[in-house]
Amino acid sequence: CGIVGYIGTDKTAEILLKGLEKLEYRGYDSAGIAQLNENGVHISKVKGRIAALREEVDQKSISATMGIGHTRWATHGAPSYDNAHPHQSASGRFTIVHNGVIENYEDVKRDYLADVEMKSETDTEIIVQLVENLHHELGDTQEAFRKAISLLKGSYAIGIIDQEDPDTIYVAKNKSPLLVGLGDGFNVVSSDSMAMLQVTDQFVELEDKEVVIVRRNNVEIQKLDGSKVDREPFTAEIDA
Ligand code: GLU
Repeated sequence: CGIVGYIGTDKTAEILLKGLEKLEYRGYDSAGIAQLNENGVHISKVKGRIAALREEVDQKSISATMGIGHTRWATHGAPSYDNAHPHQSASGRFTIVHNGVIENYEDVKRDYLADVEMKSETDTEIIVQLVENLHHELGDTQEAFRKAISLLKGSYAIGIIDQEDPDTIYVAKNKSPLLVGLGDGFNVVSSDSMAMLQVTDQFVELEDKEVVIVRRNNVEIQKLDGSKVDREPFTAEIDA
C-alpha cells in the first residue's frame, strides 16, 4: 500500500497513476485518487487493480493540477468500493488518503464524532470527519489539521485536501514512511521516492508527528505546536 500526492501545473492524474503503479509491489486490494479543480473534488476509486482505476480515470478525463492517490491494504473494513480511499468528510469539503492503522479510532469516534454518520467501515474516515468538526470549531484548516493529528494514536501516512483551498495538500506521518519531493513550480508527496522519481530526485524526509503544508511553490514543515522546522533535501538514487 502507499500514498502519493501532486500539486503543480501539469495534469495530476497521470502523475498520480504512474506513482501508484510504482507502489504496486507493496501489495494492495483497492486504489483511488482525488483530483481538485475549479469544479470541486473528483474521486475515482476501484476495488481491484490500478489498471481498472486508470480506465475509470481516463473515462472521466478530469483536468486538474493537484490531487492525492492511494493503494489500500485493508485493515478495518473489507476490501470494497465504499471502503476504498479517498474518503470524504460529511459535507464533502475535506478528502483524505491514509495508510496505517488508527489505534484509538473508536475513542475518537465516541468522544468527538458521536453525531456523525460514517460512510465507510474504515478507521481512516474518523480522521477526515474529525478535521471537518475541528474546522467548524477553530475556523482554520491548518489548526484543525494539527489538532486532529495530535488526537490520533497509531500509524499513519496521511494526505488531505480542502475543497475550499486548491493550493494546499496537508500531510502528516507517524511510524509509516512518507517523503515530500521538491520540484520547480510543483511539489509531491510519496510513501517511497521511487514513485516520484518520474518528476524529481530531491526529497525531504519527515519525522513522526510533523505536519507539512505542501503548496506549488513551497513546502512548510511544522511541529504540532505550529512552529516551523527547516530541513535540507537529499538526492534520491535512481535504481538501475
Ligand atoms: N486502515 C486503513 C484501511 O483499512 C488504511 C489501510 C492501508 O494502509 O492501506 O482503510
